[in-house]
Amino acid sequence: MKKPVTEEKTFCDFCEERGCSVCLVCGKDLCRNHRLELCIYLDNQQNTFRAGLCPKDAEPLLPILTAFQGKGDTWEKVGQNPATNEYALAGIFQFMGVLR
Ligand SMILES: [Zn+2]
Ligand SMILES: [Zn+2]
Repeated sequence: MKKPVTEEKTFCDFCEERGCSVCLVCGKDLCRNHRLELCIYLDNQQNTFRAGLCPKDAEPLLPILTAFQGKGDTWEKVGQNPATNEYALAGIFQFMGVLR
């Protein structure tokens, strides 16, 4: 038997947008703009850990991410584009500042 479908929409706990994810730490509903997705890969993606985080719970990552800034030489060595990475980092820092 099918469950009755209730028209219950989930909204982001930080704004009025529809929620599309949940913070794995605190369980808050998150929209696309208030979700940081953490992905950790090992063994060519054989072992992958993914977690959606709200801006508050993403904060412990801040010191680590800050240490990545300006590491252009290192990124180049491992075949990554320094400009792209700096740009992406800036976007993540902006995201983490959302609640401040
Ligand atoms: Zn939101
Ligand atoms: Zn959270």
